[in-house]
Amino acid sequence: MKPVTSAAPSMPVSHRWTNGWGGGKWGKGKRECPFYKRVPGTSFVVDAFSYGGVPGATGYFLTHFHSDHYGGLTSSFAHGTIYCSPVTRALVLLQLRVDETRIVALPIGEEVDIMDAGLAKGGTRTGRTIKVTLMEANHCPGSVLMLFKVPNTLPNSPPYIYLHTGDMRAHRSHLEIPVLRSLHRIDALFLDTTYCRPQYRFPPQDEVIGDAWRDARAKAAKVAESGPDDSAVSEESLPQKPTGLLGWLKITPRQQSASLVSKASRIQPLNAFTRLLSSTPRTLIAVGAYQIGKERLFKALAISLRTSIFSPDSHKRRVLRTLGDQELTRLIVDDPRRACVHVVGMGKVDKDGALEALEFANARGGSFGRVVAIRPTGWTWGGKGHQTAKVERSGQFSVRDLRPYLAHPKVTVVPLPYSEHSSFDELEMFVTGLSKHPGVRKVVPTVGSGQGWKEIQRLCDMFRTAGESSPPVANDAILPPVTELE
Ligand SMILES: [Zn+2]
Repeated sequence: MKPVTSAAPSMPVSHRWTNGWGGGKWGKGKRECPFYKRVPGTSFVVDAFSYGGVPGATGYFLTHFHSDHYGGLTSSFAHGTIYCSPVTRALVLLQLRVDETRIVALPIGEEVDIMDAGLAKGGTRTGRTIKVTLMEANHCPGSVLMLFKVPNTLPNSPPYIYLHTGDMRAHRSHLEIPVLRSLHRIDALFLDTTYCRPQYRFPPQDEVIGDAWRDARAKAAKVAESGPDDSAVSEESLPQKPTGLLGWLKITPRQQSASLVSKASRIQPLNAFTRLLSSTPRTLIAVGAYQIGKERLFKALAISLRTSIFSPDSHKRRVLRTLGDQELTRLIVDDPRRACVHVVGMGKVDKDGALEALEFANARGGSFGRVVAIRPTGWTWGGKGHQTAKVERSGQFSVRDLRPYLAHPKVTVVPLPYSEHSSFDELEMFVTGLSKHPGVRKVVPTVGSGQGWKEIQRLCDMFRTAGESSPPVANDAILPPVTELE
């Protein structure tokens, strides 16, 4: 692919690791871009829009469209060229109205040459080409991992390899991505450490939703279609019914009532799955979500319950239709009466918010009598009393692991341990797996603070050393000498 060039910078780029960890330092009223947001040895920065123009930076990479990552980016942005995935580009244009000539969408899974327009020592252009590959991050639509291959100025030396995860939910399949398999090592892994604490253990998304049986059956059907082979699955071994949240919606009112362990005497059971949405008055399912994210959850609910998806926020509906997911786009409707799954703000999945959603729909001709408010968040884990969904048994997450509670005679709240960040176990799997192959020389946590960060770094180093036999490498040893770079 033809190289693309970022805009010219005003100052040489700094390559040192000396800024320290943290949210950026404050100086002269302006925050300084923290070291882990720079791609070492380049004039590129990642998710660094809240610092004004970063000195020396020419390429501004955006991993995904969440405000804590694009914060500071406005329509007047003119500090350089923005690089991101096609979906993120569409969202930036729709939401922020940034000059479209400043945003370059990079393909997923394809290595692209990007000219580093940074200045070397003496003010001349480095003229170097950085190879960049984007990979799906499994976090929200358009979210990507970014792999940078930075040329080594020493003769006959391999490039420096940096992997920036942005926000991600690590999955075993990440370790099988061909571009990662083909590497000889990763010099620095900039890692989303949001849940890098042993108490953050939550089940996989498909177990929480309870639609793993659908995937398993679809896979089995595909295998059957292409003829029997070693991967053929017997009918008996397939999960027979929905589990998790869908399983809970399906069980009978009596069982459901028994599963509502808290305030049991005040419980008014819901209708069972088949009658849940068609009975009068109907049940509205309000799902909490941020600007983007949780799509997989409400899509699975709508498909399984054979209904559509609505959001009281017309702009949110427009955003959902921008995500390039045809199946999702087909499910979105503008009439609240036609959908039983309503997407609301994350702050609205409580008693008052749920009643508000009910009122909104009924004021427009809806006939809803009650609400199941679903609060999907990793932070549910370790919460208080009945609000907590705990997986205490080994094996698959099931109906019995949910802890719904009655917040109002018309409102049942279901906290769901549904996270779009890696759990502690998944972080261990990802870092240990990459450390085995291709090898990781340094893990740099990108989420944490103060004393907590030290512990996170210790855990990351533990995962890394578990995956390799060679001893840890000192921070500065992973970078070319500064004189080589300036
Ligand atoms: Zn995010």
